[in-house]
Amino acid sequence: MLKEEEKEYIINTYNRQPETLLVVKGKGTIIWDENGNEYLDFVGGLAVNALGHAYPGVVNAAWEQMNKVIHTSNLYYTEPQVKLAKSLVENSAADKVFFCNSGAEANEAAIKLARKYTKLHVNPEKFEIVTALNSFHGRTLATLTATGQEKFQKGFEPLPSGFRYGRFNDLESFRSQINSSTCAIMVEPVQGEGGVIVADEDFLVGLRRLCDEQNLLLIFDEVQSGMGRTAKLFAYEHYGIKPDIFTLAKALGGGFPIGAMLCSEKVSAGFSPGDHASTFGGNPVACAAAVVVLQEITRDGFLQNAGERGIYFREKLNILQDSYTNHVGEIRGKGLIIGMELKKDARKIQQFCQQKGLLLNCIGEKTLRFLPPLNVSKDEIDRAVDILDTVFMEVFGCE
Ligand SMILES: *Cc1c(COP(=O)(O)O)cnc(C)c1O
Repeated sequence: MLKEEEKEYIINTYNRQPETLLVVKGKGTIIWDENGNEYLDFVGGLAVNALGHAYPGVVNAAWEQMNKVIHTSNLYYTEPQVKLAKSLVENSAADKVFFCNSGAEANEAAIKLARKYTKLHVNPEKFEIVTALNSFHGRTLATLTATGQEKFQKGFEPLPSGFRYGRFNDLESFRSQINSSTCAIMVEPVQGEGGVIVADEDFLVGLRRLCDEQNLLLIFDEVQSGMGRTAKLFAYEHYGIKPDIFTLAKALGGGFPIGAMLCSEKVSAGFSPGDHASTFGGNPVACAAAVVVLQEITRDGFLQNAGERGIYFREKLNILQDSYTNHVGEIRGKGLIIGMELKKDARKIQQFCQQKGLLLNCIGEKTLRFLPPLNVSKDEIDRAVDILDTVFMEVFGCE
C-alpha cells in the first residue's frame, strides 16, 4: 500500500523497487522493516549515521533543543551554532565556518567563495576550478558540473561554465588543466561515489604544492570522507597537508541535514555580509546534534578504535577474496569506507545480502561499498562477512 502510494505521489528519481525496504526503526547498526525483520546496516544512510541509529547523546541533544527552539533563521544568534563552529575550528585546519544543509550546498558555497576571494584578492580574471574525473560533488547545477561524470550532467545543459577536469591521482593531468583563468582545484581525498578510490599521497601533496606555486586555492570535498569515516577526523590529516577550504555534510549532524564549508581566516575575507546565506543553515537542532557527534568522534580512543575495526574488516574481506579469486577484484578504502570490486553480479549480491539481513551499497554494476557506523562491533563485522560468504557461495558456487 505505502509502496504503491510512493509510486503514485513521489517523483521517480530513486528507482525504488518493490523489494526496497520500508524502514520503521533503527538502533545502533541494526534497522528493522515493517514486518519486524532485522538487518545489519552497512549502508549507514550513505555515510551519514557515523554513530549508528538512535544514538542516545544525539537524540537527547536534539530533543532538548527542539523543546527550546527549533528554528530562528540567521537573523539571530543561537548557541548550538556557535558551539559547533568553535568545536569544528578547534579540531581542524580551518578558522571559520559557514553552515548550510547538505553536501551540494557546502560545495556550492566553496565554489562561490573561491571565485569571490580570487576576484577580490588575487586576480579578477580568474574563475575556473579544476576538479577530478570520476568525482562527485552534488546535484545542483554548479556542483554537478564540478562532478567529473557525464552521466550526472546529461540533459541538464547548458551547464555553468568555469570547470575543467583532470584525472584523479594524476598530478600531471591536473597541472595540464591549469591556465591563466584557474582559481582553484577541488578534489575528494577519497572518491566515494566514484567507487571508493583513495587519493595517493604524492597526488594530494603535489596538488598542495601546485596550488602554493600558482597561488590557487585547494578545496577538499570531505562531505563523505570527513567526520571520522577514514579513521581520522578529516581525511586530509592522513596526508600531512591542509586545504584552504573544505566541506562537510553527511555524518556531521548524526542524521540531521546539515552541511558546512570551512576555510582559513584569509580566504574567509572573500565573503562579506549579503554574499551568501541559507535560511535553514546552522539550524539549532541540527547543530546541537552535530556538537554531540563531534564530541563523540573526538573522544579519546574513538578514532583509533574505528581504525582497528577498519583493519579487522579489511582482513576478513581479504580472506573472502582469497576464496573467490575468480569473482572478487580489488578491495580498497581507508578506515571504515571500504569498496570491494566484483567482476560481475554486484547488484545481485546486494539483493541476496538484503534477503539474508545485510544491507550494503552498490556503486555502478561492480563495486560493493561498505559504510558501517564508526562504532560497529567486531561481532557485527563477523556476521556481515558470514552473510557475504554465504551469498558468494550461493551466487558464485565453490571455486
Ligand atoms: C554525497 C556527497 C555530496 C553531495 O551531498 P548531498 O548532501 O547529497 O548534497 C557531495 N560530495 C561528496 C563527496 C559526497 O559524497
